[in-house]
Parts: sequence; structure tokens; C-alpha cells
Amino acid sequence: MNAPSHRRFEGGPLVIASHNPGKVREIADLLQPFGTEVTSAADLGLAEPIETGTTFAANAELKARAAAEASGQLALADDSGLVVAALAGEPGIHSARWAGPDKDFRAAMQKVEDELQGKNDRRAHFACALALCWPDGNLEAFDGAVHGTLVWPPRGTEGFGYDPVFVADGHDLTFGEMDPAEKHRISHRADAFRKLVDACFE
Ligand code: IMP
Repeated sequence: MNAPSHRRFEGGPLVIASHNPGKVREIADLLQPFGTEVTSAADLGLAEPIETGTTFAANAELKARAAAEASGQLALADDSGLVVAALAGEPGIHSARWAGPDKDFRAAMQKVEDELQGKNDRRAHFACALALCWPDGNLEAFDGAVHGTLVWPPRGTEGFGYDPVFVADGHDLTFGEMDPAEKHRISHRADAFRKLVDACFE
């Protein structure tokens, strides 16, 4: 069987279809070696689409398509979240929503911890779906994951979201304590990015 063929990036501007500054910063860092001219949906004043998908992949696609259509540029979207085994996969695609309108991740981490009370299984993984959409509607999609354990109390001020309570397998520091360069090497986003870069950028 032949490997699937992917459309390749041929230079020009790329819009990161996100209003989350932590995520935009990480994606811009990951794209930096390719000399890509990057802006974000927030920089361009694009509306944030409502995430009506029931999977990370569906939501990434919806955000990438909306940004490509509104900007006329190549758009890259990331949909990601924390999947907790003992909580039947929650918060999952609702990871941002668990932080409420104030994006209070201290409260979201506390909520995860509260729901884990009385449960022994503290395994979790971060999942990432990436969607790269061209203005003509061509879409390339990739996914990634990093597995680990949840700790309490939260530790560290690096990263964003649930990073202070997540320790990746084989590591001692939480993502909140880890040097960002190290997180970029092992994260769910890095995993998905490697696949994207192999298929579309190199
Ligand atoms: P999205 O913008 O709907 O994809 O929401 C993703 C949410 O998942 C973020 O707001 C974070 O709460 C969480 N999340 C995704 N990736 C990470 C990460 O690398 N570290 C910590 N939290 C993350």
C-alpha cells in the first residue's frame, strides 16, 4: 500500500487558528525552524467558532476551516485537552470549558482533583489534534498524545492550562516545572507536530 500523499506547505503566511496565547506561543515556537510568517486568529480579529464537534479532530477541523475561510490564508488549528482515565475521559474536549468564562485553570485543576477523590487510578493523557487547512478547503489532519499521571498540589508556573498537575511517564517534573524546550520535545503537541512536519513541511 502506498503512503497517503499530503499537500505540502510552500511558504507564505500561516494563521494559527487560536485565541489561546499559551497555545499560540507553543505553536509559533514549533513552526519557527521553518521560517513561517505566523499570525494568530486573535491578531487578525477573527471570530472564535463554536466548538460543536464531539472529538478533538472534529473541533480542530472546524477551527482550521473557519480561519482559512475568514482569512484567505493557510490556517493551522490545534484542539487538545486532558483525558483522565478514571473520569471516563473527561474533561477531554471540555478541558477549556472546565475553567469557566474566566479561564480559571486553578479552579479547573481543583475540579479534576475533587472528582478523583476516592479513586486510585490517577492516569491521564494529553491529546492533540492538528488540522492544516488551505483556503481552497484542502485539509491535512494529525494527532498526538503524551501519557502520564496527575499529581496534587499543582507545581510550577511554566506552560499553561493543566500543566502544573501533569507528570509525563518517565519524568519527575510536572509540565508546569519543566523547561518549555523539554515540554516541546515530549508533549502531545510535539508528537502531532512531528507527524505534520514529516508530511507537509519537510
Ligand atoms: P481548546 O482550545 O479547546 O483546544 O482547549 C484546550 C484546553 O486543553 C486548554 O485550554 C487547556 O486547558 C488544555 N490543554 C491543552 N493542551 C495543554 C497543554 O499542553 N498543557 C496544559 N493544558 C493543555
